[in-house]
Amino acid sequence: MARPDLTARVVDGKALANTLQAEVAARVARLAARDITPGLVVVLAGDDPASAVYVRNKARAAEACGLRSRVVRLPAEASVDALLDAVHTANADPQVHGVLVQLPLPSHPSPEHVRRVTRAIAPEKDVDGFLPVSQGLLALGEPGFVPCTPAGCMRILAHAQVPLRGRRAVVVGRSAIVGKPMAHLLLAADATVTIAHSHTEDLPGVVREADVVVAAVGRPGLVHGGWLKPGAAVLDVGINRLPDGRLVGDVDFESAARVAGVITPVPGGVGPMTIACLLDNTVRAAERELS
Ligand code: NAD
Repeated sequence: MARPDLTARVVDGKALANTLQAEVAARVARLAARDITPGLVVVLAGDDPASAVYVRNKARAAEACGLRSRVVRLPAEASVDALLDAVHTANADPQVHGVLVQLPLPSHPSPEHVRRVTRAIAPEKDVDGFLPVSQGLLALGEPGFVPCTPAGCMRILAHAQVPLRGRRAVVVGRSAIVGKPMAHLLLAADATVTIAHSHTEDLPGVVREADVVVAAVGRPGLVHGGWLKPGAAVLDVGINRLPDGRLVGDVDFESAARVAGVITPVPGGVGPMTIACLLDNTVRAAERELS
């Protein structure tokens, strides 16, 4: 609902995701006419409650759009070999077009184990866009799978008609799954891009220069309205659960929405678009069968 006390337009990520999912469902129907049903496999180890919610949301959205979705559930203590088996089986299945491993892997905190499992995904089924080959293509500005959260952010910016060419963009956070791919996408859209991180000096001063701010940190309310250039577009990727159970982003919404021109809320902003973009990537993988 519009709030007259805020200067910012608040983006309804859920409505935008519904629109994208309707487009995805129409493409699924076109594929059905050619006897192709896009298939998505999610490998889930253990019973981490947050992972269970994410996986359930992905599976529900996939089924609502007519995709075939399967969750391969393994015990928390599953070995690397068992995880690799699950990935290899999905890779070899012609009815599966997208494969992803839900992180974190509870019994494998070692980054090397996580890399071995996630890098076993076949490049043509890498619908999360996390493989080095997908990330490399993105960095080169060539076609490939784009990680879902940054892809969703770009769709939000396009929908809100935020100009990017020549504008200053600051991405706070440099993770391989959000911050870095986000920066590449903004660069490809001709923005002048700065990536800020935990060692950045004078973060408020850096953010204040930005026409577009993307916060992907994991710190509740880190980006305050007092840091923003008036009229800036602010995309809040963070998902943080407070001790009282509330979900909040990395942006202090109340203060930021009084300065920004466009802002995404948490929940209901970037999160729903991430799932819709995962379905888009999976259907795109299936559409390759047509060529
Ligand atoms: P990450 O922990 O891998 O990376 C966090 C980044 O923030 C790091 O690059 C670090 O340098 C930077 N950072 C940490 N403290 C900082 C500080 N004080 N100032 C500036 N930079 C700082 O996290 P991630 O996987 O990129 O996720 C970031 C957030 O986005 C989390 O809250 C996560 O839950 C959320 N997330 C949301 C979605 C979605 O669909 N909305 C998807 C992925 C991640």
